[in-house]
Amino acid sequence: MAKLYFRYGAMNSGKSTALLQAAYNYEERGQHVLLAKPAIDTKDATKVSSRLGVTRDVDFLVGPDDDIRLLFGEHRERVRNAEEDALMPEAGESAPDVACLLIDEAQFLTREQVDDLLRIVVLDGVPVLAYGIRTDFRTDAFPGSARLMELAHSLEELKTICRCGRKALFNARLVGGRFVFDGDQVAIDELSADRVTYESMCAECYLRESGGRLDGR
Ligand SMILES: [Zn+2]
Repeated sequence: MAKLYFRYGAMNSGKSTALLQAAYNYEERGQHVLLAKPAIDTKDATKVSSRLGVTRDVDFLVGPDDDIRLLFGEHRERVRNAEEDALMPEAGESAPDVACLLIDEAQFLTREQVDDLLRIVVLDGVPVLAYGIRTDFRTDAFPGSARLMELAHSLEELKTICRCGRKALFNARLVGGRFVFDGDQVAIDELSADRVTYESMCAECYLRESGGRLDGR
């Protein structure tokens, strides 16, 4: 039975690397996958990029108002038709299909789009592997991640370490090299006059830098 998987972690926990590895594992067995990501992420807009230098084009982008199940269905048809044209399956072989839908930056999906991921899994019978960041720089859950935590059949944490060596839980934001605890949930580099960076931190280091603040309050 197909399942909805959410693999989450702090920034720099290797989510994109894990996604590309999962895609490779399917394709090594001769299976087809589809890669998608929300259109909100303007860095490498149409690619999944791992820090190890591996990149790959996504099959489709998902805008905030897009019907992700409809988009998935269209691309699934494209894969099925392309395969039929390329090679006629031999007698007894099942028709080619999409074995898995992989989602990068899943935290930026809307709650409704995550609902549709569960429908893709259960009603369309295709497993979905979603990768994303659990919380923003104020320690609030991203909408897509919150809904994935509620709906996913399987949750798996991808770990990275804080500068102190503990497991990182949070993503502290720096603007011009200084920690900030107020601002919009999404600050993509190109949109910001000051360069925005993030540091994955444990709760102890985060609270020390924030002076005890959580959630920007
Ligand atoms: Zn720490």
